Amino acid sequence: MGKLDGRVVIVTGAARGQGEQEARLFRAEGAEVVLADVLDEPGEALAKEIGGLYVHLDVGEESGWRDAVAAAERAYGRVDGLVNNAGILRFNALVDTPLEEFMEVVRVNQVGCFLGVKTVAPRMPQGGTIVNTASYTGLTGMAAVGTYAATKHAVLGLTRVAALELADRRIRVNAICPGAIDTPMSNPARLDPDADPEETARALDALYRKLVPLGRVGRPEEVARLALFLTSEDSSYITGQPFVIDGGWLAGVGVV
Ligand code: NAD
Repeated sequence: MGKLDGRVVIVTGAARGQGEQEARLFRAEGAEVVLADVLDEPGEALAKEIGGLYVHLDVGEESGWRDAVAAAERAYGRVDGLVNNAGILRFNALVDTPLEEFMEVVRVNQVGCFLGVKTVAPRMPQGGTIVNTASYTGLTGMAAVGTYAATKHAVLGLTRVAALELADRRIRVNAICPGAIDTPMSNPARLDPDADPEETARALDALYRKLVPLGRVGRPEEVARLALFLTSEDSSYITGQPFVIDGGWLAGVGVV
């Protein structure tokens, strides 16, 4: 028996990275998975490989959300889980950040989560689960990613309020806060067909050895297991909480 037998779950940003691993794991655990992304080619290929449904969805577009949920309901009859995973990262000092750049990160990371909650929760009359992807930077600051950190702090606020407002509908809402995870977002070399992914992973591990107590970067499969926990009955008494998965990075600093 799978942990998600009989469940229908939408995963945004599912074409690669953490979303890909969430889609793979959820499907392996028995869920019908709706893979939503703007990267149509890899998204469709992955959906075909694992036996899911791919939908084109820009998470910042409200009409796209309605279409995606309608497609899920046509294919599987209902929706009872959502992982708001899609996100973008931009590097800039706050004083150098153009307003357009700030607003684009807000549109995807923050508005995308809001529209997911707003559109999907009313379509889950039997209850369900929502997992919002925040970040380590949703709980602390990080220079050079101020726009991103601001949106991830906002995702935690949204998560707590959604949990309060949706509890009586038996919808649990939690957030995951990954530290550095080896996906194209943190390791763009993964998108380079000429690069050796294992070599770039080792280089990332070396970079994080000094910063992260567990001495390495995280793997998207590890984040997927946390998303599975929060989407399954294993977390049946948990709502409104941020879950840090960062190898101990946020625990504090060492002085020796
Ligand atoms: P990634 O860049 O590999 O994957 C992000 C996915 O989101 C891509 O498939 C992309 O096409 C999709 N996406 C981007 N904009 C979209 C939009 N407007 N509509 C729909 N899909 C869109 O990155 P990842 O590391 O897998 O990131 C997944 C989530 O985890 C993000 O929310 C990210 O902020 C968060 N996160 C990542 C890390 C990390 O170190 N990788 C750390 C903390 C949090």
